[in-house]
Amino acid sequence: MLGSNIFTGPPDVSIELSPGCIFCSIAEGRTPCYKIYEDNDYLAFLDIHPFVMGHSLVIPRKHYDALPDMEETAVGELFTVAARVSSRVTRGMSADGFRLIQNNGEAAAQVVKHVHIHIVPMKLEDKDRRFGRLSPTDKEFREVADAIIRHS
Ligand code: 5GP
Ligand code: ZN
Repeated sequence: MLGSNIFTGPPDVSIELSPGCIFCSIAEGRTPCYKIYEDNDYLAFLDIHPFVMGHSLVIPRKHYDALPDMEETAVGELFTVAARVSSRVTRGMSADGFRLIQNNGEAAAQVVKHVHIHIVPMKLEDKDRRFGRLSPTDKEFREVADAIIRHS
């Protein structure tokens, strides 16, 4: 997936990680998120520390640690949902393209051990820029989620 190093490393999310799986908790509705897509088996929501506004995550509701643990059909479904949601994120953020990032294992900077695909909307003027992590306000998150959902 992402060969470029224009993104900085993962944030310190240790205080947000419970002993259980945070993404399972989100999928079950026990932990809130800014949801932008859901169906019976998959869910997409805004990343809490986005690289850019609109940075989203797509997850299966079922827990798998990483991509190699998934059945092939589920891998196909996950990427199909990611492609669908990517178009909405790109339109909603008036972006020119998008990156998909999919980290597996500590060496790949996988912090949350529940398989997920990052969708990062990209604007042409930002294509060579390095990104840190943002901490949007609740209002900003809501506006971004609304803009994406409007393009669904
Ligand atoms: P990884 O490095 O594992 O591929 O990325 C995990 C991502 O999950 C990070 O970008 C991080 O900001 C995001 N994240 C971690 N905890 C939460 C959370 O509780 N809610 C949301 N929405 N995103 C989270
Ligand atoms: Zn999980």
